[in-house]
Amino acid sequence: MVIKSKIRTIPDYPHQGIMFRDITTLLKDADGFYATIEALANRYRDVKIDKIVGIESRGFIIGAPLAYALGVGFVPVRKKGKLPSVTIGHDYQLEYGTDRIEIHTDAISSGEQILLVDDLIATGGTAEAAVALIQQVGGVVVECAFVIDLPDVGGRKRLEARGQTVFTLCEFE
Ligand code: 5GP
Repeated sequence: MVIKSKIRTIPDYPHQGIMFRDITTLLKDADGFYATIEALANRYRDVKIDKIVGIESRGFIIGAPLAYALGVGFVPVRKKGKLPSVTIGHDYQLEYGTDRIEIHTDAISSGEQILLVDDLIATGGTAEAAVALIQQVGGVVVECAFVIDLPDVGGRKRLEARGQTVFTLCEFE
C-alpha cells in the first residue's frame, strides 16, 4: 500500500527497543501526503461531522488538512499548559509516569459530532484521554481515525471496549 511504504522506521527511538514509525517521510512526499488526506476525507465526506479534534502534535498535521477538506472546524487537544483560555485536562498513563492533555472548555458545543484524529494508535491511552475530554465538554465522538495502527499493542481494542469505533489506514507489527 502506497501510504505504508512511505513511512520510515527508526529503530531504538526514542528509547532502546522501540521501533519508531516516522511519518515525516510520508508528509514530505506530495503524493503520499495527498493520498493520506484523501483516504480519510473519502471515508468521512458523507458522514455528519461538525469538528475534527487533533491531538498534539502530529494529529494537527493530519487533522487540520482533513478539516479543511471536509469543510469543518478544527480543535486542538494540547499538552499541559499550552492552551491560552479556560481548559479542562485529563491525566493518562505513560510507560514511565503520567502526562496530561487539555482542551478549551468552549471548543465544542453540546451534541456536536466529533472526529478524533492522530497519526498513530499504540496503547490507546492518549486517544482514550482525548475521548474523555471531548465527552466532558459535550461532544459525541463519531469515530477515532489514525494513519497507523500498532494492533499488537492493543489500542484499537481498548477504544472499542469503550464503545468507540476506530479507523486506520495501515498497520505495523
Ligand atoms: P498511545 O497513547 O496510543 O500509546 O500512543 C500514541 C501517541 O504516541 C500518539 O500521539 C503518537 O503520535 C505517539 N507515538 C507513539 N509511538 C509512535 C511511533 O512509533 N510513531 C509515531 N509517529 N508516533 C508515535
